[in-house]
Amino acid sequence: MGIVGHSKTTLAVWISILLALGVAGRGAVAADTPVFDVIVLGSGGGMDESNLSAYLLAPAGDSAYVALDAGTLTAGLRRAREAGSLAHFPADAELPPEAVVLRRHVKAYLISHGHLDHVAGMAIGAPDDGAKDILALPATIDVLRDHLFNWQVWPNFADEGAGLLLKKYRYVRLQPGEPRPIAGTGLQVTPFELCHAESGSAAFLLEAQGRYVLYLGDTGPDAVEHCDKLARLWREVAPLVREGRLLGVFMEVSYADPRDAAQLYGHLSPSWLMKELRNLADQVNGEQPTEALRGLKVFATHIKPKLRNGLVVEEEIATQLKALNNLGVEFAVPKQGQRILF
Ligand SMILES: [Zn+2]
Ligand SMILES: [Zn+2]
Repeated sequence: MGIVGHSKTTLAVWISILLALGVAGRGAVAADTPVFDVIVLGSGGGMDESNLSAYLLAPAGDSAYVALDAGTLTAGLRRAREAGSLAHFPADAELPPEAVVLRRHVKAYLISHGHLDHVAGMAIGAPDDGAKDILALPATIDVLRDHLFNWQVWPNFADEGAGLLLKKYRYVRLQPGEPRPIAGTGLQVTPFELCHAESGSAAFLLEAQGRYVLYLGDTGPDAVEHCDKLARLWREVAPLVREGRLLGVFMEVSYADPRDAAQLYGHLSPSWLMKELRNLADQVNGEQPTEALRGLKVFATHIKPKLRNGLVVEEEIATQLKALNNLGVEFAVPKQGQRILF
């Protein structure tokens, strides 16, 4: 026992030294050392049920991820495996890599709102999933509890609501503007409300090692939604942009331009996205707004494919964003199955 006790003490000393080195080392980390690791499970916003909003996110070098929305899980994991984006996970002789990742390495779901294209993969995958938390704003938890996991639409895999509670999932209510660590991960999340037609929605600001990434669920422009939620969000994150600590923004661009404002249905097009980024730029540096966001990574998400022969909407939207980009941001359109380190 004495030896065990001694070993524990020695171990504790070593852990303190390593932690101290880690803390000391972070300041010296080169700017291009990745902080975040994203695996794109679903990048679309409609029509194709095998590619709907879902992004796995972890601190780089960590295998504990959260799913930012969960529209498509299994089909996205299969695509990720085919693309080599799951090669860093340990293999299991009994389970396919998709199941290993979903059950063991996705520690929680962060759900922006209850629309089907953000929750369908979670519902369908629930019988084969591992236990985990569902984190969302209280209104979204109510929607999942009353209208999804209610035994009418789908069995109740959660810990509240109608009928027998299977308790695989635990509802965790987030409060707007309040940071909260995500259990089992090295991430902290702060949620913000967004306006999205008749439904509400949320943005999640995620932090690891003092660096941040911002994920926006579905949102319309403030001017069209007659609301101020994006303006509030930009005020909150402007200091992080100024300090160089916001490394990326995932932002929806559902429709290509031109799009009548009355037909945005709580979404953005490239011209509206640029207007909102300009609002952020004004908050970051009112003197020189066109310099304020230079080099910021903006990932365009939730593009709605159309059934029109010969038209690739992703390319059309990427071209429009490039033409409109007078702020020097770095646009990218994530592809399903892709792994992004930044
Ligand atoms: Zn929606
Ligand atoms: Zn959506």
